[in-house]
Amino acid sequence: MPNHVNNRSQTYSIAHAVQRCAGCARRTAVIGLILPPGHETLEIDSDAQTAAADVWDAAEAGAFLFFIEYLSEAVRNRLRQHSQHYRLDHDERAGQIYWMNHCSFCGAQQEDFELYCEPEGAFLPISEHAAASIRLQEVSEPFEAQAAGYAYAPDFFDGVQR
Ligand SMILES: [Zn+2]
Repeated sequence: MPNHVNNRSQTYSIAHAVQRCAGCARRTAVIGLILPPGHETLEIDSDAQTAAADVWDAAEAGAFLFFIEYLSEAVRNRLRQHSQHYRLDHDERAGQIYWMNHCSFCGAQQEDFELYCEPEGAFLPISEHAAASIRLQEVSEPFEAQAAGYAYAPDFFDGVQR
């Protein structure tokens, strides 16, 4: 299936956090991707007559991206400098191939569902205190990705609220 970029931005941030590994119970570093207010998302019209005319919407708030199936080469190269454990892999439970964190100690997959969809997951903080432990590092470079997961205006992230 061809890659179809559905998120783009002039800049982005790499989020650094820690996740308790379900495999070895140690706390391993994980990274995530967050887009600032003003990033653009693709609206695909299911109507065949207008499907060719892709419409980009500018978002008023920031967003986390996850279940990322495609990253532009520049972004991949940048991320490689920050983690040796973030790579394309097959999540059997989700039945999906996406850019995934792996435990730096035992190599176990750190599935995006656990990081982004489970309360107290590394990127779903349930308090300002928990959110404060997530470090955001801005990258002043263009961003393009195809992502199935999109968390708009995440709680407790002042920098990405409108
Ligand atoms: Zn582990």
